[in-house]
Amino acid sequence: MAVVGAGPTGLLTAIGLARHGIRSVVLTQDVQVSHGSRAAVLIRRSMEILHRCGVVGPFVAKGLPWSSGRSFYRGQEVYRMAMPHEEGQRYKPATNVQQQYIEEYLSEAAEREPLIDLRWGSRVISFEQDSEEARLGVDTPEGAYTLRTSYVVAADGGRSDLRRILGLRMEGRAYAGRFVIADIRTDLPLPTERLCYFDPDWNPGNNVLVHRMPDQLWRIDFRLPDDETPDQALEPELLKQRIDLTLRMVGYPIPWTLDWATVYSASALTLPRYLHGRLAFVGDAAHLLPIFGVRGANTGIQDSDNLAWKLAYVLRGLGGPGLLESYSAERVEAAREICEEAGKSTRFMTPPSRGYRLMRDAALSFTLSETFTKDLLHWRTARPHDYRGSALNSDLEADAAFPSGPGCGAPVPDMRLADGSHLLDHLGSAFHLLCFGDGHSAGLRHLAEAARRARVPLRLVLLRSEGAPEAANYDVQVRDTGGEIARRFGAVPGSAYLVRPDGHVCARWLRPDPSALERALAIACATEEPMA
Ligand SMILES: Cc1cc2nc3c(=O)[nH]c(=O)nc-3n(C[C@H](O)[C@H](O)[C@H](O)COP(=O)(O)OP(=O)(O)OC[C@H]3O[C@@H](n4cnc5c(N)ncnc54)[C@H](O)[C@@H]3O)c2cc1C
Repeated sequence: MAVVGAGPTGLLTAIGLARHGIRSVVLTQDVQVSHGSRAAVLIRRSMEILHRCGVVGPFVAKGLPWSSGRSFYRGQEVYRMAMPHEEGQRYKPATNVQQQYIEEYLSEAAEREPLIDLRWGSRVISFEQDSEEARLGVDTPEGAYTLRTSYVVAADGGRSDLRRILGLRMEGRAYAGRFVIADIRTDLPLPTERLCYFDPDWNPGNNVLVHRMPDQLWRIDFRLPDDETPDQALEPELLKQRIDLTLRMVGYPIPWTLDWATVYSASALTLPRYLHGRLAFVGDAAHLLPIFGVRGANTGIQDSDNLAWKLAYVLRGLGGPGLLESYSAERVEAAREICEEAGKSTRFMTPPSRGYRLMRDAALSFTLSETFTKDLLHWRTARPHDYRGSALNSDLEADAAFPSGPGCGAPVPDMRLADGSHLLDHLGSAFHLLCFGDGHSAGLRHLAEAARRARVPLRLVLLRSEGAPEAANYDVQVRDTGGEIARRFGAVPGSAYLVRPDGHVCARWLRPDPSALERALAIACATEEPMA
């Protein structure tokens, strides 16, 4: 296996493959991790994925978790945003940590992993494939060579050479507005929350975002007047003046130093297919998403999580070719949904016409007195995609019979368990069968026996109802004190959920039978043969 690119998505794909026992070569033209914050906000789902991959430790140690924000319109507070967070979820909705740390922590994890061969200073300059293999031309300071491999993951970023070599075009649109990001070092006595200023005195008609990051860094992000060029915007005197005005606006005109500044614009673009024979696109190479709503790196991390187990299963002979097709179908759908949603927030942040601006300003001024329009401002909600329509789901009638709980395609929610651990702690990189009730009941016993015959790695988790004795045959047993977990899953004694290696539900039954499990595993692995 070869992975091209050592940004967040390339590194995480290689780490995910290694978790499934697959060796990979990671080729990157860089000689070190990138500088400058770029992605600065990881959403809860990304933290959960990093947790499952066993690399979350330094992110927790460094990151600043948060769950709320305040919006101001012409200096007046109009909205307090509280992102959904349930007591018992391990991670807050968002964690601020700069991209150079994301890359540093992931490249250190990759360097420690014997199954990953991370090659710096290695630029991919050509790609060919046939029915036997893929071939990459690699240019290095010591000379060029050809790498022959089974599959290639294109994680080579927004200017993807592999996309260019294949002549692929993205669909969607690029937005006109341009923004400055300036990371400054200062000591603002403010909590970690998202501050958003619409139409402030010093930047009329535009907006300014302020975010706290680790290392006493603060990210200031503001829209430029339409007629200003990036060079003008980064001119030191003008930049200083605007940062001073921002600090005055937040109420603390204190000294600061500049760490990094850049100009960016928003796009909502995706390839219509991510799989091209032996080449699979992930991250910015596959899509370019506006950073409002913190989509770029977070979406790439979910791509990697989706692809790694599928590639591993295909390479280990546990999955059919349809599994890789499902990667493309599921993640293109996710990107299209994000482009659609992000388009709304981008139009809100950068009204493309006078009409949009009037509507946006009306909504904002309305919220000064009314509450019901506040959802309009709820633009930074970021949630994992639900693979509701996935070809890997099965028994949709049984799914529909549940009164509640995560349905087919949805991610399993995290929750704190009676012993103080979290459900997330018990979900590794295999398939999992979550069984509810008394493990000694005939129904669950037969199901567990069928699960033991499965050819794919399948871990059995018993969420044991209160008072039921311990049962043999399960990899993990957790007491469901007061039936809280069963309630959250809409389960009754004897119910079961089949969960994919990336933590998404692919089948669930109130009353399962062993043959339904066999069929569901075959469908989830895209194999013709039943997997048990
Ligand atoms: C100013 C700014 C702010 C952002 N803020 C956020 C945010 O808050 N949250 C968020 O989720 N996202 C944010 N993003 C987006 C985020 O930075 C990207 O989505 C993310 O970096 C994508 O990761 P990636 O691994 O796909 O690509 P990249 O990080 O671009 O990595 C690509 C890798 O491929 C390598 N490469 C390229 N070509 C070749 C080649 N031919 N051969 C070998 N190697 C090659 C590069 O050297 C690099 O290692 C922001 C982006 C910008 C610019």
